[in-house]
Amino acid sequence: MLAARYLAGYPPELIAQAEQLRLDGRLADHLDRRLPERHEVRSDSALFSYVNELKTRHLRNAEPLNSVNYDAKLRVLQHALGTHTRRTQVQGAKLKMRREIRVATLFKDAPAALLRMIVVHELAHLRELDHNKPFYKLCQHMEPDYFQLEFDLRLYLMNQENPA
Ligand SMILES: [Zn+2]
Repeated sequence: MLAARYLAGYPPELIAQAEQLRLDGRLADHLDRRLPERHEVRSDSALFSYVNELKTRHLRNAEPLNSVNYDAKLRVLQHALGTHTRRTQVQGAKLKMRREIRVATLFKDAPAALLRMIVVHELAHLRELDHNKPFYKLCQHMEPDYFQLEFDLRLYLMNQENPA
């Protein structure tokens, strides 16, 4: 059952409902209705501005990001929905932290709400490395609908693998 893989950890009733939507060929319509709005964040520079705008609004005191880009090699679920790295670079005698946010290329064409959700997820990692309670609180602070959108994202990915 495809839904079980994308929705691991969700209640069995929800998984069964999602699987039924898929089997009935109604998943794509369901997603279009829930997430009709598209976005125009198509390039790495547009993504950089988009991420920094959200960061300025919600995490004003977080350190600056060194790079933000779309990454075609990123597999979303395997990387717990995105990736965030802190690389320590040696520069002369100083140690410098490099903060990078990479977003899977599939989000270039995804609904606006899903791009926002994934960026919120990555920004929250600037404060919290793990997927713990404070992490999800911060996600919800930046995007009140965070949990619903994470669920929608899983449905979206499921539909990409096996479209109706
Ligand atoms: Zn994460």
